[in-house]
Amino acid sequence: MKRTDKTLLVALGGNALIKKGQEGTIEQQFENLVLPISQIARLSRKYRIIITHGNGPQVGNLLLQQECCDAVPKLPLEILVAQTQGQIGYMIETTLDNELIKLGINDQFFVTVISYVVVNDKDPAFKKPTKPIGPIYSEQEAASLPYLIHKTAKGFRRVVASPMPVTIVEKREIKKLIEMNFIVICCGGGGIPVIREERAFQGIDAVIDKDLASAKLAEEVGVDIFIIATDVQGVALNYGKKDQKFLRSITIEQAELYIKEGHFPAGSMKPKIEAAMQFIQRGGKRAVITSLENIEQAISGESGTEVVKSI
Ligand code: ADP
Ligand code: MG
Repeated sequence: MKRTDKTLLVALGGNALIKKGQEGTIEQQFENLVLPISQIARLSRKYRIIITHGNGPQVGNLLLQQECCDAVPKLPLEILVAQTQGQIGYMIETTLDNELIKLGINDQFFVTVISYVVVNDKDPAFKKPTKPIGPIYSEQEAASLPYLIHKTAKGFRRVVASPMPVTIVEKREIKKLIEMNFIVICCGGGGIPVIREERAFQGIDAVIDKDLASAKLAEEVGVDIFIIATDVQGVALNYGKKDQKFLRSITIEQAELYIKEGHFPAGSMKPKIEAAMQFIQRGGKRAVITSLENIEQAISGESGTEVVKSI
């Protein structure tokens, strides 16, 4: 039995698997997972738990692998996202299993759910794709590719739309599993983006931000605490500058102002702040952005940046 019936959603950032600067071998990925997952194993005594995760480097590697091989047909992005949900779900499950065994816990079940996330085909993001994915090309290589390519700071890259998540298709299944005390791993890589065509779903070439998909899931399932775990201790003003200042809490109003002032870049800190704000604005109780080391401390209020309604 849990000590409370509160539900915790932990969104794991890309460096839960591959740290910045690492090559990203499978051994490194398993090793890195121990830090967040050991905390989640302990927290499972107290909370019902949902784990979501990013997939940037993993889907990037799959794209690169298929660019290197012409012997088999190329797979669309939605299929690659599905592959990474299976791959990373498996890695989280085995790590969780080991960590639970270390704690002598043998009554905690868990499951990975392949997750679709509905997006709107009229989302303005489809008119102006901005999310770079996959390998970096030379200008010459890029010219012969059948994709939309943008010149980025790193070089020429394929860009896809990053539409807003509308709803998580498996929300009822996830809720049921949580009520049955399963730890649920889901919405990997922000979910497989689909559009609704009458009663059917159709996969679409896009990438959903995993923090925004996690906020949507947190809202739809009715999560109590939403933790966004990444590779910095929290949210900073003037990040990376001499006068950088990490915040312990931030109100919705302050967050809106700091977004306007440009403190949070799109594609890294901005979606995290927006995800936390959305969760709180739609009735969520607590949302904390913290480091992977400090998931437990963030829950007990000793670490990270908490997004609050007002002071
Ligand atoms: P994740 O894989 O966890 O989603 P991201 O790289 O997308 O990680 O976002 C986390 C990164 O955001 C940090 O490593 C940091 O470099 C960057 N960042 C940008 N602005 C800020 C800020 N104002 N405060 C804290 N971190 C910031
Ligand atoms: Mg990110």
